[in-house]
Amino acid sequence: MSSVTVTLLPGDGIGTEVSSAAKEVLTETGVPIEWEVVEAGEACIEKYGTPLPEHVLESIKRNKVALKGPITTPVGKGFRSVNVTLRQSLGLYANVRPLRTLENVPSRYTNVDMVIVRENTEDLYAGVEHKVGRDAAESIKIITREASERIGRYAFELAKRQGRKKVTIVHKANIMKLSDGLFLESIRHIAESFPEIVCEDKIVDALCMNLVQQPEQFDVLVLPNLYGDIVSDLGAGLIGGLGVAPGANIGEDGAVFEAVHGSAPQIAGKNEANPLAMILSGAEMLEHLGYNDHASQVRKAIDSVLVNRELLTKDLGGNAGTREFAASICKAIQAL
Ligand code: NAD
Repeated sequence: MSSVTVTLLPGDGIGTEVSSAAKEVLTETGVPIEWEVVEAGEACIEKYGTPLPEHVLESIKRNKVALKGPITTPVGKGFRSVNVTLRQSLGLYANVRPLRTLENVPSRYTNVDMVIVRENTEDLYAGVEHKVGRDAAESIKIITREASERIGRYAFELAKRQGRKKVTIVHKANIMKLSDGLFLESIRHIAESFPEIVCEDKIVDALCMNLVQQPEQFDVLVLPNLYGDIVSDLGAGLIGGLGVAPGANIGEDGAVFEAVHGSAPQIAGKNEANPLAMILSGAEMLEHLGYNDHASQVRKAIDSVLVNRELLTKDLGGNAGTREFAASICKAIQAL
């Protein structure tokens, strides 16, 4: 099997701990990955004068795939968020969050299995805002047919690839008839090319209520940027919280896989962080690269370790540290 080079950004705070755990677990499967480790984030500011030096972007552009730890956004220091810059520089237009309940992870629900596909480049997050006089401000919501069709196509192709049955387009077109109306119309048009997949639409507020009442009725959700951001965190809450929620940012020419959580400075360096979200992001990355057997080893090993409460990290009700938890998963891989 041919090997690939993947850029690894350990990140800030708990990032170094959870990415080292993820690397250890993925390596244990024997997957032929060469890791190109590059620093980004706080450590770089002093050394390079920026949290995202050019050589980091070049590495991801060259390798086309990265596994990234969380990066702290310095508040009030005049740096743009590394995450936003990465997204824009690499054209990562789809934010993808698979939500699957894991047996033995404490959660209110037992049968969630859906994917949230969030448009990552426009909407109110395009950053077009201005003051109107002293006491008013305007933010402009940008929705284009091109970006809406692109994210719609991504959602339907993902549904087809994963054997999923339904795509729900989420919007507020009853109020924002032009912008959300265009999002809805563009994706309905894409749906016509996928007759085997059911296409429905939901108003975002109704969706939130339905997600809390009966999340199992949803399969793939496709949303504009702002609703996607909010609903994704609601989704993480459905499956047991930030410690277990993986994610990916996908573009035409590259992909960056990362946990949903941030750098959690309060618990950094204490061997307390749950590395599961990062390890699951790694499994998603293996599937993206076509290493499906290796990914399935990781998932099976995780399921077997989760059975024993003692082996889990604090946030999941156990006593194990980050390193011990990762070591148990490695041991379970050896035993498969
Ligand atoms: P956070 O996700 O870091 O922490 C929120 C809460 O969840 C904290 O109580 C934390 O201890 C806990 N937590 C998070 N991950 C955990 C894990 N793996 N195991 C156990 N507990 C975990 O969110 P925040 O505090 O809002 O942000 C901290 C920093 O991270 C900020 O600078 C923010 O900008 C940055 N951030 C980065 C990313 C990213 O790089 N993708 C995402 C979100 C936040």
